Amino acid sequence: MTADSRRSSPWTDYNRRMRWFFGTWMGGFAVSALAIYAAQSTRYEHVVFWLSLGTWIFACIVAKSALMAFRCPKCGQRFFNPYWPYPEKCRHCGVARGR
Ligand SMILES: [Zn+2]
Repeated sequence: MTADSRRSSPWTDYNRRMRWFFGTWMGGFAVSALAIYAAQSTRYEHVVFWLSLGTWIFACIVAKSALMAFRCPKCGQRFFNPYWPYPEKCRHCGVARGR
């Protein structure tokens, strides 16, 4: 496998979307918690709380939507089941993740 074939693989895109989603979810939580902690006992405490919470939720929705939009490399349908976030295989054709 060459560097070009790895870069253009659909599973590379899948992995990138997964990292983006989990990075947004967990990293966003950490950043929001730090911002809320830093703003404690200031006059902007409530503004920082709602702004960071809203931004985090919005970023998670965008990242989740990008993840759910991933298309199966075999059948071209959406790979993900909306009720199960980490599938082992395509819900339409059954191709295993990473194949
Ligand atoms: Zn498929």
